[in-house]
Amino acid sequence: MMRQQIAAANWKMNLTYAQAEDLLNDLLLSPHALKPHQSVVLAVPFPYLSLAKHKVDGKAGFFVAAQNCYTKKSGAYTGETSAEMLQSMGIEYVILGHSERREYFNESNAVLAEKINIALSYNITPIFCCGEPLQIREAGTQNSYVAEQLKESLFHLSAEQLEKIVIAYEPIWAIGTGKTATADQAQEMHAHLRTTLANHYGKEVADMIPILYGGSVKGSNAKDIFSRTDVDGGLVGGASLIAADFGQIIDALK
Ligand code: PEP
Repeated sequence: MMRQQIAAANWKMNLTYAQAEDLLNDLLLSPHALKPHQSVVLAVPFPYLSLAKHKVDGKAGFFVAAQNCYTKKSGAYTGETSAEMLQSMGIEYVILGHSERREYFNESNAVLAEKINIALSYNITPIFCCGEPLQIREAGTQNSYVAEQLKESLFHLSAEQLEKIVIAYEPIWAIGTGKTATADQAQEMHAHLRTTLANHYGKEVADMIPILYGGSVKGSNAKDIFSRTDVDGGLVGGASLIAADFGQIIDALK
């Protein structure tokens, strides 16, 4: 079975409504001939979910994602958005554990385990982000650091549940810095993550999980990074705000 290959856009907290509309129009204008195992996922800010959903309607292989959801089902949590709300409007994916959420909003591995659970219970596919800060990379302990993130947020899941997860490896030192991990560094970590999954869930399950690379992916370097065996596409910040650049990234899927 061919693993799912995904080009995911993370718009973060960018663009006005009119700019979002323009970008969606530009992106959807060019005919990307997606193969059945290829998907494009657009993680737009909450206020634009409905717009994005409307725009991708009928475009095969295009999906919309939220950039976060709350741990609770519903209730008095002013300002939060539930997985149930996302499901009720047909949102298929949610990014969980982005390093910016971990850093600025104190999201721990334990809180992320709860968010993973509630997203899965509403049939929303989590794109679970992991990745080490620079000092861990410099100390050479990135493999155990990232394996720990997986263990603490995912390893309570059954194999059946894990099969619904997408993982994004995003070394923090490469996010928004223009400093991309080399294709070798990405492949090495992705292979390590797949082995970590295989040791707990078996090789067959591990082989089904898409592992995306994130960190300064651009139109010009996507093909090289995506060409590696265990790299199943990318999660893209900055370059996803430029239609031509993100279009090139979509076309770099294998
Ligand atoms: C991200 O935020 O997920 C990301 C990878 O950002 P950038 O592509 O800008 O490095």
